[in-house]
Amino acid sequence: MIENVAIAPVTGPDIPHGHIHVRDGRIASLGPGPAPDVPGATRIDGAGCLATPGLVNTHHHLYQWASQGVAQDATLFEWLTALYQVWAAMDAEIVAGAATAGLGWLALSGCTTTTDHHYIFPKGRGDLFAAEIEAARDVGLRFHPCRGSMDRGVSQGGLPPDEVVETLDEILAATAEAVDAYHDPSPGSMLRVAVAPCSPFSVSADLMTEAAALARAKGVRLHTHLCETVEEEEHCLEQMGCTPVDYMEKLGWLGPDVWVAHAVHLHDRDIRRFAATGTGSAHCPSSNGRLGAGIARVSEMLRAGAAVGLGVDGSASSELTPLAGEMRQALLFQRARYGPTALTARQALEIGTLGGARCLGREDEIGSLEPGKLADIVLWRVDGFAAAVDDPVCALVFGGSPRVARVLVGGETIVQDGELRTVPHDVAGRAGAEAHRRLTRLAAERGFTVSKQVHS
Ligand SMILES: [Zn+2]
Repeated sequence: MIENVAIAPVTGPDIPHGHIHVRDGRIASLGPGPAPDVPGATRIDGAGCLATPGLVNTHHHLYQWASQGVAQDATLFEWLTALYQVWAAMDAEIVAGAATAGLGWLALSGCTTTTDHHYIFPKGRGDLFAAEIEAARDVGLRFHPCRGSMDRGVSQGGLPPDEVVETLDEILAATAEAVDAYHDPSPGSMLRVAVAPCSPFSVSADLMTEAAALARAKGVRLHTHLCETVEEEEHCLEQMGCTPVDYMEKLGWLGPDVWVAHAVHLHDRDIRRFAATGTGSAHCPSSNGRLGAGIARVSEMLRAGAAVGLGVDGSASSELTPLAGEMRQALLFQRARYGPTALTARQALEIGTLGGARCLGREDEIGSLEPGKLADIVLWRVDGFAAAVDDPVCALVFGGSPRVARVLVGGETIVQDGELRTVPHDVAGRAGAEAHRRLTRLAAERGFTVSKQVHS
């Protein structure tokens, strides 16, 4: 029983002072006023806190925790070229450490459900997909890992070195195996797998269509990168003779079971098509800013009824970005582009929670505080310095990243008083730093040094 707490349920009006009753991992009831007497209930005093649904991270590359601060002033293509050689040295041990740190960091910024898009599988380096799944179990987040893939290396005109790409047959077999081994479709699931070729431009058209067929046969979702940069559209017009979204439509990749990362450079008709087909977008404002990619048309997408969630994107393009901070970043970007009514604090909270749940097809279970939904709840400290702001949702979103008093996933505490309760704080931090050192060393042994600059 969480009591004496302000509540922003996302659906329905805010409750300035109320309580939330959690039973068997789900929300039994919530409402204004003092908590009812429930014999045997554990009581959590929420005084000075705002309760919101747990944040949903719709795009990430956890392995990138090990390669932050590299190619600091690069465009997306320069950045990818600089990093692929480093990532080629990755192994399961590096993924385990990077994922432990990255997932711990997400939990500390109020995230309760996260995806991860892992698409680099160098041969003979252990089970990288299993490594991140184990890390998510240890940290305690609800996890939607996306089995990524690339089948066009340098020798076929692609960007990545040949040794990190797989053949179409290898990819389809490994992806089917990952779904069979880990995907749990049951209610309240802690682990669902998605199928996720890296981007339509780094993989073959065959891989895109076969991946969609596989995902639909297995009843799992589809994810990829799309419309991140202007260069991507130019490349697509030149190579395919159509825009990226036209190409996706031809491949059968628009639909209610698809969400894409970025969607920065959409045309008017693309926004209408995303809304009409239920195709979701992971908005990653810090990463788009860091790489100078542009500002997504989020407020127009929301007005059209398209599903939009938030993502931190991989840490190599959004170093140490907390998920809560992406609500603020999204709000500021939209207002800088469209004016002060473009995105409200409550809309920013909604895309960070319910919008993300829609992208993952879980809006019936997570993303808002309602009876029957999973008890994925964050208590944000809005007392102390933040108490000078009367509206706690304003303090949360405009202010950026308040301290987290409590994070519950399915009613279980994973963060308390700003400290991880599942994996010790210092252990998670050290695991990330060790993963970084190991990747740097293994890359150097292959003749590649990790540089922060691409331009002299
Ligand atoms: Zn990405």
